[in-house]
Amino acid sequence: MIYAVASGKGGTGKTTMSSSLAALWDTPITLVDLDVEEPNLHLFLKPELNDIQKAYIEVPEADEDKCTKCRACSDICQFKAITIMADTLLTFPEMCHGCGGCFEVCPEGALTPGKRELGEICRGTADGNDFIMGRLRIGEAMSPPLMRQIREEFPALKAKGDVLIDAPPGVSCPAMAAVMDADCIVLVTEPTPFGFHDFKLAWEAFKPMGKPMGAIINRAGIGDNTVQNFCADNDIPIWAEIPYSREVAEAYSKGDVIAKALKPLEPTFTALRENMRAAAKKAKEVSHA
Ligand code: SF4
Ligand code: SF4
Repeated sequence: MIYAVASGKGGTGKTTMSSSLAALWDTPITLVDLDVEEPNLHLFLKPELNDIQKAYIEVPEADEDKCTKCRACSDICQFKAITIMADTLLTFPEMCHGCGGCFEVCPEGALTPGKRELGEICRGTADGNDFIMGRLRIGEAMSPPLMRQIREEFPALKAKGDVLIDAPPGVSCPAMAAVMDADCIVLVTEPTPFGFHDFKLAWEAFKPMGKPMGAIINRAGIGDNTVQNFCADNDIPIWAEIPYSREVAEAYSKGDVIAKALKPLEPTFTALRENMRAAAKKAKEVSHA
């Protein structure tokens, strides 16, 4: 199964939850940090990275001699990454999403693949589990193409065991891309007005995918019961509540995995794991029925 830990906004404790789940997973699992703009799962899991490779996308390079300025490429490119100005063909590699459309429509074979560096994909092991992390190049604006390259590995990873994705925060393209393959989504939130606002946005964004979803309320005890009431009204199970405490904050600030550093929290995370498993399994059975 593939599990995604997501959150409507940053700073809710998503990576804290992912790292604790990773540490207590009791069957083979690959840990994947898809928050490629700001990966930090490795700071907690401290993997040994033994394979770091640059990742690229194909961008068009034009042969002016072959180009008839027919504009087929500029017409199809919705990102304005290739255009004709004053009878000159111009390409803007930084704006290219690597969709390949312009190559397909060019009738003259005037476009050949160049490449733009997206970032890197790092692989290794963390506490006996496989670990993969994407890291976007500084200045690179587009994370989905880098995420896509990691997501292409999911079928092979899934054949070896479970996959746990630490998703980017928010509800825009990267967050949607990160949860797309999941069999179950866990939404981390906190019981504050900001937390509720972003939790609701994330739930509304992910709900049309029809995947089982549950909530983790982090820093429980601060704020009010708005999140709990919303979950009750909308049949969203609350799979775990992590109380707000100085010990948790201290463990986090030291880069510790809280489920390991604070033994009393271990049953909360094992129950969370079992809830996630049960939800994913039930959804699978329903879809096969
Ligand atoms: S590959 Fe796609 S995004 Fe890039 S220039 Fe061609 S059509 Fe535009
Ligand atoms: S589609 Fe090919 S021939 Fe037409 S303008 Fe683009 S590069 Fe030139």
